[in-house]
Amino acid sequence: MDQILNYIGGELVPPKSSTYLDNFEPATGAVYSQVPDSDASDVQAAVEAAESAFQAWSHTPVAERSAVLLEISRRIQESIADLAEAESRDTGKPVSLAKAVDIPRASKNFDFFATAIKHVENESHQTDREAINYTLRDPLGVVGCISPWNLPLYLFSWKIAPALAAGNTVVAKPSELTPMTAYLLSQICMDAGLPPGVLNIVHGLGNKAGAAIVEHPAVKAISFTGGTNTGAEIARVAAPQFKKLSLELGGKNPTIIFSDCPHEDTLETVARSAFSNQGEICLCGSRIYIQCELYEDFRDDLVDKVKAMKIGDPRDEDTNQGALVSQQHMEKVLSYIQLAKDEGGRILTGGQREIVSGRCENGWFVQPAIIEGLDHTCRTNQEEIFGPVVTLTPFDTEDEVITMANSTPYGLSASVWTENLSRAHRVSQRLASGLVWVNCWMLRDLRTPFGGVKQSGVGREGGWEALRFFTEPKNVCIKLR
Ligand code: NDP
Repeated sequence: MDQILNYIGGELVPPKSSTYLDNFEPATGAVYSQVPDSDASDVQAAVEAAESAFQAWSHTPVAERSAVLLEISRRIQESIADLAEAESRDTGKPVSLAKAVDIPRASKNFDFFATAIKHVENESHQTDREAINYTLRDPLGVVGCISPWNLPLYLFSWKIAPALAAGNTVVAKPSELTPMTAYLLSQICMDAGLPPGVLNIVHGLGNKAGAAIVEHPAVKAISFTGGTNTGAEIARVAAPQFKKLSLELGGKNPTIIFSDCPHEDTLETVARSAFSNQGEICLCGSRIYIQCELYEDFRDDLVDKVKAMKIGDPRDEDTNQGALVSQQHMEKVLSYIQLAKDEGGRILTGGQREIVSGRCENGWFVQPAIIEGLDHTCRTNQEEIFGPVVTLTPFDTEDEVITMANSTPYGLSASVWTENLSRAHRVSQRLASGLVWVNCWMLRDLRTPFGGVKQSGVGREGGWEALRFFTEPKNVCIKLR
């Protein structure tokens, strides 16, 4: 059985306690590897390694830092088949999705920040004819990066790449549910020539290894992606130490479909935005609002489309719905489907556990569910389910749909479907969310700010936002004589 190791000081090392947790393959429900159950002593070793690497790494010329990160990007791309297979096995997601989305994006994250760092400009402000200011941006030191299980290497690298590019050293923890590609990344970093201690990866539980990173006084900033409750706990611990915090949290995203939408394109993308990665993407559109005159036609077409989705072994190239990440998560999703029924919802398709025969008969599969007949204020429509479950709600007017769309405690993303340009602008401006897609979904330009409002988070990732987060500005004011 594979035993995953921590990556500390440039070496692959076992946890100091020699204790491991079982790592499950969601598609089979069986244990297939073991992950270190690291504790504060492993985090301490990682922080010390990161502290001793900081001076040299932060003074390494930008071109050299960039070259190492580009080499990591290239090696991820070169290993795409192996990494995609590992990601699929660890998460339950279809291997085709990991190959098309997760791993290419992880490679792009390193490529993007490796090149972005070469184009940073320092600001300068002239104060009348009296003085000139310029702003220096220094790396923070040792930073902590903590990521979730749904897009493991994609989100892990989205934090690590800008942190390293800006000259910080990193102590990172992937989710203990999906540690495999972060482990494989350790080897890639070693082979690519990343100096020892620049990146340290500590595996283990959130409330143990993760909490030790957040609490450690030498860790200057925490970049976290995960659930809203965990984000609140991290803020509670980090705030009194005045650490910089970037929190990318949960979502309950509205999809707003006006009757003048481009029908085929909308149907195709809305089905994808609802059920990609079994609905386990923070950006998935889980509340679908459809204008009344289109409601029945669109509903029926969407139900047909979703019924045709193939639930099956994530290894099969034609599978488009894989397994949910854990038994516990599957049970949570099924309990929300029961709640929807209790709240008066009608299940139009799906909503049961699916038994996939053969090697996957004990896997954690759930049929994608479409539910109608619920009020927008009920729990099913207010709480994040993070699974293959969407609700359909009809609406008449823009005002009505904006009120419903903005009614949750979350505000991560929204998508709007209309051919009316003025309406697209109007509605986008009134939506309380960090990201709005018009006639598309998850179309990403890595230069744009990424993040949410309300309980979906604090701060933004992406482009300069990420590089600003991972640096401290210092203004130098020079009086002109
Ligand atoms: P969690 O909040 O449970 O965990 C996220 C990470 O934090 C994991 O590595 C976890 O470790 C760790 N962690 C847990 N408790 C602590 C703690 N006290 N201190 C430090 N670290 C801790 O989220 P999930 O992994 O369940 O991910 C799903 C959530 O992530 C959803 O709510 C989803 O919306 C959100 N998400 C947000 C995105 C965004 O960009 N806004 C993108 C993707 C997901 P462990 O796994 O061991 O618990």
